[in-house]
Amino acid sequence: MAIENVVVIGAGTMGNGIAHTFAQYGYTVTLIDVNTESLHRGLSAIEQNLGRQVKKGIIDENVKSDTLERITPSVNLEEAAVNADLIIEAASENFDIKVKLFKVVDSICQPHTIFASNTSSISVTSIAAVTSRPDKFIGMHFFNPVPVMKLCEIIRGFSTSDETYSVIEELAKHLQKTPVSVQDYPGFISNRILMPMINEAVFCLMEGVASAEDIDTVMKLGMNHPMGPLTLADFIGLDVCLSIMEVLHTGLGDDKYRACPLLRKMVAAGCLGRKSGKGFFTYA
Ligand code: NAD
Repeated sequence: MAIENVVVIGAGTMGNGIAHTFAQYGYTVTLIDVNTESLHRGLSAIEQNLGRQVKKGIIDENVKSDTLERITPSVNLEEAAVNADLIIEAASENFDIKVKLFKVVDSICQPHTIFASNTSSISVTSIAAVTSRPDKFIGMHFFNPVPVMKLCEIIRGFSTSDETYSVIEELAKHLQKTPVSVQDYPGFISNRILMPMINEAVFCLMEGVASAEDIDTVMKLGMNHPMGPLTLADFIGLDVCLSIMEVLHTGLGDDKYRACPLLRKMVAAGCLGRKSGKGFFTYA
């Protein structure tokens, strides 16, 4: 099945990167958000990031302008969904929001349209179950920044068909990503391994094992990680880290996934990392 028209829902951090990547590789993209301010911010982020790719010699000016031309921003999901071959949802990490969006598009889209969610922790199977096409529902988990990061976890829901899987796997390869096949379990592979490591780093800080700087230095110099776990947590957002730990704890039922009390306290205090200016480190 040929995919040409793609609707990306959510113009935030991930949505604008996903729209950028699909448009760069020739797909016609409608970028949807409920918030016009987010749409403006998303489009200007795309323009800036394309400019950065031009400066680095990754693409030329023509690719930049062609990519921008292929993206249409809109607040009208119903109108865009009619002609979509693929809906990829990158709205806020909230089950109710995602379910509501997929119910809407399910009633509008053509029978062949594939639905993908970029959720980082919510069960793909449970979102798929609210639609009339769980066989055409899949997780397509990109990484931030999407135009740069090579990995795409492809999550098979309980009812995802082999045909849907192979269309999405080929699509990921066409976007120059490396697809990895993952079954639908809490946190998939990436967050199942990454988040407990970050959580353990926060426990080390809470228990006074070492300072935040020293914890990050050990993981950078000792394990060759490009970024320490606490810096990475600030980059991801401490609220996001907490909610993923909660999904792991609830979904897997094992206390080894209990969120660190310091992580909870910092989120309650509004110290969310880079986006709030303060997390484990302070940002200008
Ligand atoms: P974000 O907060 O930056 O953006 C979410 C966008 O969704 C906002 O612009 C918001 O206005 C929009 N939105 C909310 N409800 C909507 C609706 N009903 N219709 C249309 N738009 C709506 O969030 P993000 O970091 O881009 O995350 C988006 C998704 O991607 C989440 O599911 C998240 O778990 C996942 N994800 C995030 C990362 C990351 O590093 N941030 C990585 C992988 C996956």
